Amino acid sequence: MDKKQFRAESKRLLEMMINSIYTQKEIFLRELISNSSDAIDKIYYRALTDDSLTFDQEGYFIKVTPNKEARTLTITDTGIGMNQEELESHLGVIAKSGSLAFKQENEAKDGRDIIGQFGVGFYSSFMVADKVVVISRPLGSDTAWKWESEGTEGYTIEPTEKAEVGTEVVLHIKPDTEEDSYDDYLNEYRLKALIKKYSDFIRYPIKMDFTSSRPKEGAEGEFEEFTEEQHVNSMVPIWRKNKSELKPEDYENFYQEKRYGFDKPIKHAHISADGAVVYQAILFIPETTPFDFYTKEYEKGLELYSSGVLIMNKCADLLPDYFSFVKGMVDSESLSLNISREMLQHDRQLKLIAKNIESKIKGALQSMLKDDRDNYEKFYKAFGRQLKFGVYSDYGSHKETLQDLLLFTSSKDKSLVTLAEYVSRMPEDQKYIYYASGSSAERIEKLPQTEMVLDKGYEILFFTDDIDEFAIRMLMNYKEKEFRSVASGDLGIEEEKKPEDEAADEENKALFEDMTGLLSGKVSAVRASRRLRKHPVCFATVGELTIEMEKVLAAMPD
Ligand code: ADP
Ligand code: MG
Repeated sequence: MDKKQFRAESKRLLEMMINSIYTQKEIFLRELISNSSDAIDKIYYRALTDDSLTFDQEGYFIKVTPNKEARTLTITDTGIGMNQEELESHLGVIAKSGSLAFKQENEAKDGRDIIGQFGVGFYSSFMVADKVVVISRPLGSDTAWKWESEGTEGYTIEPTEKAEVGTEVVLHIKPDTEEDSYDDYLNEYRLKALIKKYSDFIRYPIKMDFTSSRPKEGAEGEFEEFTEEQHVNSMVPIWRKNKSELKPEDYENFYQEKRYGFDKPIKHAHISADGAVVYQAILFIPETTPFDFYTKEYEKGLELYSSGVLIMNKCADLLPDYFSFVKGMVDSESLSLNISREMLQHDRQLKLIAKNIESKIKGALQSMLKDDRDNYEKFYKAFGRQLKFGVYSDYGSHKETLQDLLLFTSSKDKSLVTLAEYVSRMPEDQKYIYYASGSSAERIEKLPQTEMVLDKGYEILFFTDDIDEFAIRMLMNYKEKEFRSVASGDLGIEEEKKPEDEAADEENKALFEDMTGLLSGKVSAVRASRRLRKHPVCFATVGELTIEMEKVLAAMPD
């Protein structure tokens, strides 16, 4: 039997594609600029193997020129260009990517990464234009070609003139509508902002003309218009620069430029990973808690770039919840993007990067804890609660990552201590890590339950945050030392229970029974205790929950 090829109604397909792949129209500019950058890269690659060609970085650029009168937006490049046949096959065949083919033919890898791969980006121009004209002159030829299309109706190709090698894409911008402001794409400042947003780190200069006025020389009070060509993109992203070239201010400026926060970062980490996954990242720990941090509105995530082109503003998958306070960006060449390049295929690479980043953040926090204690305590006051939530959630499965990052106020000097510090100071005979819960350190200190433990010379951790006790319960123990509330019925202290106590219980049996009766429903038993020093009575708990935990649970909405 004959096997038949599928046919597609290309008109419908193009329409569907144009209107359904991308969620934002503005990305057409990113796509066209990426194509231009790829086209220049191709000359660069060609020059590597062709001695008759030299690649002089200076001579290559991309230019974006709006023309309000003609309602056109032109993207010009000095790239490799396309001949008639290439125009036909690359722009006439949907989902055919000349760049992907080029990448496959040129295995050469030296950090220049061609962006194109799906063969659809170009058509995104029809989201904002009702007619697109491409004038191209390929490298090594005197003939130029003009490709023209109004989208679904097909295209024409004819010879034309062009002085320089390269490509010019002319978009005839749609008229403004109520829903969409196409005029935006003719506005220099709006275009500049789009270039900064998506294409700031394209390796070649992206230029634009800006017209403004200045005082006219020799003519008092008069102004003249003048046009100045500006170089819009930063080209070399800070994360590709050598760490040794960068000063702390450079990172702070980047943090502010990117609007990661209005504060300053308390710490940054600049990562250049070259192992199983290749990526660069700059991560920041902010100095202050964002106002919405502990609300549902707060969105965690890092900016995600693929070869210098912005793909996602907030990629949540890159950060575990307990490190949700981290800001910054990741750039990787090895991501598999979906066709719109707006999302990622849920891929192994991303998971590996996320895992790697998690351990880098942990490392950064550990080194801050070790070498920069004051700042760590500042950090902990802003975000420590989030780490404790992390210990508590998922049944404490992150405890290995997080337990050594926790700090608690200790009865000793009321300073913040780590669990490791606490345990290292424990006297030989101390069995448990003691803690006491209350609304403030001052209140906890006055609790009668703390007397005996303090008297023994043991340290007590003061739990003043709702989450503390819950988190600790998830940890269960630290370095094989169990946690024990000072309100617990069994403190594990030897002199607690002596035969005399049994006698005292027996002696006062009638009294205690009367008291239990009077407090019926409120206490389950009254007993003699050795725990007390200055106070006549105290509460102790028998079961799993302490009084403080019960309070928190009772206050929670159902
Ligand atoms: P992709 O970039 O994913 O390959 P596009 O639809 O954006 O897909 O572009 C299709 C093809 O057209 C590219 O692969 C490239 O071969 C060619 N092309 C597009 N724009 C240009 C340009 N400015 N210069 C040279 N070739 C281009
Ligand atoms: Mg492309």
